[in-house]
Amino acid sequence: MRPLRTKSPDDWRCFSVVDGKIAPPSICEINIVDHCNLRCTDCDHAAPAVAPRIAKSDIVLRDLLLLSKSYKAESLKIIGGEPLLHPDLPSIVHAVRESGICNHVVLVTNGTLLHHMDGDIWDALDEVELSVYPETRKLLDMNMSTILQNTEKYKVRLSRYLYEYFRVAFSLVGTSDMSLTRRIYKTCLRARIWGCQSIYEGYFFKCPQCIYIPQILKQSIAYDYKKDGIRITGDFNFQDTLKNYLMSPEPLNACRYCLGGIGRIRANTMTKTSEWTSIHYVPTEQLVDYDKLRSLENSETMYDMSKVRVQYEDAGRRCH
Ligand code: SF4
Ligand code: SF4
Repeated sequence: MRPLRTKSPDDWRCFSVVDGKIAPPSICEINIVDHCNLRCTDCDHAAPAVAPRIAKSDIVLRDLLLLSKSYKAESLKIIGGEPLLHPDLPSIVHAVRESGICNHVVLVTNGTLLHHMDGDIWDALDEVELSVYPETRKLLDMNMSTILQNTEKYKVRLSRYLYEYFRVAFSLVGTSDMSLTRRIYKTCLRARIWGCQSIYEGYFFKCPQCIYIPQILKQSIAYDYKKDGIRITGDFNFQDTLKNYLMSPEPLNACRYCLGGIGRIRANTMTKTSEWTSIHYVPTEQLVDYDKLRSLENSETMYDMSKVRVQYEDAGRRCH
């Protein structure tokens, strides 16, 4: 597990300023498809439940170019759903490169299609982060020699993580207890420590969960996901708007339906889309790991993942 920065619970700043640009603590993400060929029950991007979507490379380039005037990440993760389902992944990777938004480009994948990935995509990446699940381990082991040959050939770093357990990510019932919502937001590692900032269809979000939550709620309580983000513009005061958004102590609309980093742990399983709603139709209060919540509230140094991950011993091969 990666060590996290120590910070005061009342320090809402989750970025630094480098060469006049806002920089997240480590990464930002671009979600290029919303659907996936797997159905992890506790997928924290809700891929089994949201409608398919394919990002257009010209929109990605437009957003990243505009954002790069005031923002630069050390690394950018190209993520989904499953990004290898994107029909024009080379154009997306080249748009990311062309924008100059980051120094290091990572593709995050479940790996089930990775042995088919074209050489020009391998060539344009710095790193592939492979998420392995008990159900896919055998398949990946079978294809691993092809994958490793490509990492060597194209000098791409490979990080492999095994996820046997997830933390519950969402409640479709949510909570009306505003004080619990504030506690979840205040201990949210994504928004407050890691800075899993996401770029999506012209908007910037402090986490990917707030993009997907309104899309999985019942129509009677759903709302426009854009309310939880800010529009990416070339306005002269955009950087101030972005700073204020990132430092806001106010929970997002989505935090009422999100477990942040304190959902109960359960073994990873695959679920049918038809069963996904009933599994998640449980009040937030019943899904909280209260020991975890209290430990985050009382600890100055926080360690955890929403997925409980184990790094393979050979992970982190760096070929260059
Ligand atoms: S492989 Fe990843 S994106 Fe796909 S369902 Fe599982 S956690 Fe979600
Ligand atoms: S919706 Fe709220 S609690 Fe969930 S990840 Fe985003 S900021 Fe954190």
